[in-house]
Amino acid sequence: RSTTVPNIDGSLNTEEDDEEDDVVDLAANSLLNKLIRQSLVESSHRVEVLQKDPSSPLYSVKTFEELRLKEELLKGIYAMGFNRPSKIQEMALPMMLAHPPQNLIAQSQSGTGKTAAFVLAMLSRVNALELFPQCLCLAPTYELALQTGRVVERMGKFCVDVEVMYAIRGNRIPRGTEITKQIIIGTPGTVLDWCFKRKLIDLTKIRVFVLDEADVMIDTQGFSDQSIRIQRALPSECQMLLFSATFEDSVWQFAERIIPDPNVIKLRKEELTLNNIRQYYVLCENRKDKYQALCNIYGGITIGQAIIFCQTRRNAKWLTVEMMQDGHQVSLLSGELTVEQRASIIQRFRDGKEKVLITTNVCARGIDVKQVTIVVNFDLPVNQSEEPDYETYLHRIGRTGRFGKKGLAFNMIEVDKLPLLMKIQDHFNSNIKQLDPEDMDEIE
Ligand code: ADP
Repeated sequence: RSTTVPNIDGSLNTEEDDEEDDVVDLAANSLLNKLIRQSLVESSHRVEVLQKDPSSPLYSVKTFEELRLKEELLKGIYAMGFNRPSKIQEMALPMMLAHPPQNLIAQSQSGTGKTAAFVLAMLSRVNALELFPQCLCLAPTYELALQTGRVVERMGKFCVDVEVMYAIRGNRIPRGTEITKQIIIGTPGTVLDWCFKRKLIDLTKIRVFVLDEADVMIDTQGFSDQSIRIQRALPSECQMLLFSATFEDSVWQFAERIIPDPNVIKLRKEELTLNNIRQYYVLCENRKDKYQALCNIYGGITIGQAIIFCQTRRNAKWLTVEMMQDGHQVSLLSGELTVEQRASIIQRFRDGKEKVLITTNVCARGIDVKQVTIVVNFDLPVNQSEEPDYETYLHRIGRTGRFGKKGLAFNMIEVDKLPLLMKIQDHFNSNIKQLDPEDMDEIE
């Protein structure tokens, strides 16, 4: 787009520059999550299990030893620093490693140990002496495939003769090549091409088929059908596993089409709540005024780290420059950055290198930075029809009840936006107190 709109100061900005970051790129978000993840996500819910055969006994394990893994695989797991199975792994691993193999559909939010679980299953079923593809894992993007491959390489560090190959666009294989690597990770289109057109992979020899990130997969045009075409060519004794972070009806329908006779494992997500957040608002005239209020708050209370949300990229940039000029150490996270750049900014923030992170909507979805003590809505989140965007509000300032620390949230409100704030207050049935930015003593 090339529409230009004059700014108040007469300068020109492309509309692009002022775009709200409201397009959610599921694959990019998922990658970002993986890049910044350092440990397991905790959950207070119980794992729900639906067995294909309800009369068969249900095993769960509390240690990796109980799984009777190959020595070299167990070594790899411990070398990664895993002490015991995660919550879903306790239930999922015995099913995934059972004889005869069982199919599985598993859903839990990202960070709960799904990837580690299926990588373990692939590595434990692979025969290092047989030099042809035996495990096939489908991923939605090139980058996500690489991430999974890295986990295979780390966990399989001591499985010396097991190798990974990537079936992704750009990985050119000369005609007549025989693939001797046992684990193939790739995107549906390229895998399909390698199987049917180029005959590089013999699907009848695949023992474990993994469909990862099913929710992202079905969001991509053509991937569901391509995945199903691949699955149809697998032998009936092949183990089929599907993973998803979310489970809308569409994911479920796809999962049931592609995985025959599955066991199902679900771990509900921790709900966000505003209960342990003290919320305030400051009435302001304009953007400058909001900035002044922000500075007062900043000067008035001891702040660990803060995240400041703006509605548009332009506002976020403006605020970043203002704060920098006033000598604050801030970083800006916005939609035009690559995922890697975003991950590195978030990492630096997590490491405490900057105390303030300024960001637009979508970028910060799902990023949990535990040490953040205050969240500022420099602009209230609104949707296209200028109504409050309740969900985003909750995502920005909400914490999980059990694990979340107490937090402070400040809303900078122009007078004409006050009705929006009141709607938010009513919606969540919570109290948002007005604050005089000159008098910070009001904050208990
Ligand atoms: P998911 O696929 O559900 O997003 P991952 O398998 O990527 O989850 O695991 C999330 C993080 O937790 C990763 O950093 C991974 O190395 C780590 N992890 C996975 N399983 C365990 C475990 N049993 N013990 C400790 N850390 C684990």
